[in-house]
Amino acid sequence: MTRPVRPPRPPLNRRLDGFGTTIFAEMSSLAAATGAVNLGQGFPDTDGPEEVREAAVRAIRDGRGNQYPPGPGIPELRSAVADHQRRFYGLSYDPDTEVLVTTGATEAIAAALLGLVEPGDEVVALEPYYDSYAACVAMAGGIRVPVTLRPRTGPDGDRFVLDLDELRSAVTDRTRLILLNTPHNPTGTVLTRAELTAIAELAVERDLLVVTDEVYEHLVYDGAEHLPIAALPGMRERTVTISSAGKTYSFTGWKVGWTTAPPELTAAVRTAKQYLTFVSGGPLQHAVAEALRLPDAFFADLRADLLAKRNLLVEGLERTGFGVFRPQGTYFVTADIRPLGESDGAAFCRALPERCGVVAVPNAVFYDHRDQGDPFVRFAFCKRTEVLQDAVKRLSAL
Ligand SMILES: *Cc1c(COP(=O)(O)O)cnc(C)c1O
Repeated sequence: MTRPVRPPRPPLNRRLDGFGTTIFAEMSSLAAATGAVNLGQGFPDTDGPEEVREAAVRAIRDGRGNQYPPGPGIPELRSAVADHQRRFYGLSYDPDTEVLVTTGATEAIAAALLGLVEPGDEVVALEPYYDSYAACVAMAGGIRVPVTLRPRTGPDGDRFVLDLDELRSAVTDRTRLILLNTPHNPTGTVLTRAELTAIAELAVERDLLVVTDEVYEHLVYDGAEHLPIAALPGMRERTVTISSAGKTYSFTGWKVGWTTAPPELTAAVRTAKQYLTFVSGGPLQHAVAEALRLPDAFFADLRADLLAKRNLLVEGLERTGFGVFRPQGTYFVTADIRPLGESDGAAFCRALPERCGVVAVPNAVFYDHRDQGDPFVRFAFCKRTEVLQDAVKRLSAL
């Protein structure tokens, strides 16, 4: 008796087919192997404020948060998040029913999609997108529907813009939610009030939820204003707003994030979140509660520091001959390699460490329509000034 031979089944389930290791692992090992300056991955090379670090140490010493914190997050942090939304945007949320602390924005995105999306629901997202969006939509059994941000030349320079007609035609009867990201990684675009108003009108008209990733809310330049879509008419009740301490306070390793949303949406996100990590980062939650209450000068200094770094890198890239999309937000610059006579960003990035000792990331990895991203590469400028100066000097060898 022989059992029928079944074809070997690959271990990875079909939902995650195609989500192999990220480009960042490949590029970072290339950086290590060649001694190149790594402007690929987006984390700061200096840590955040001393007083916030001390607050974390104090919390550990004083035994605050060393055991499982409450599921929705410690009350001090939930109040601080609510106060932050009121202080900066005039939005009011109940810390008990409308604020949820998560393991970074990454878990908030996962829990929002797992908690809100039925298998077969369509999720409209702005392409290029942060790499976890596609994977989380897939894990939730949803169908991602990309709307491509298009490069446009305008009076204020080149910028990636949202085509509102494309967005409107992407919405169908199966659309459950629009997944936004502003300020936008990797393009540096900050959605304008007019764009957000149009998105809001569409969401209200088609009765859609909006999940909005605002982790770069404090990193805006040139007078650009970050406007949470939740502040627009009809939106508070249908919006899950996501942010995190990682980018604002330069503690990307802490993984303390949060959502603000009306009670029913918060409960849906919490239901998924409690079975992902349940809770995390107890003492760090105490420290972030203090960070959110830092004076306005902290936020102004952060912006001024990053603006100077942005200008240094943008000007260096322009001198080298790249086409540069001067970002109005985030700590990334997207550059066009076509003026350098190149067209394949992935090949360009693989060769760059060898050619001049710098690492960048090909934007194509953030696209479903990869050809749309082929000519673009992303550099991070959240690095020490001397590192950026070194990178610019190296790039000038191109
Ligand atoms: C960095 C980043 C995140 C992840 O935030 P964490 O708090 O580190 O989990 C989410 N979204 C975008 C757009 C990011 O750039």
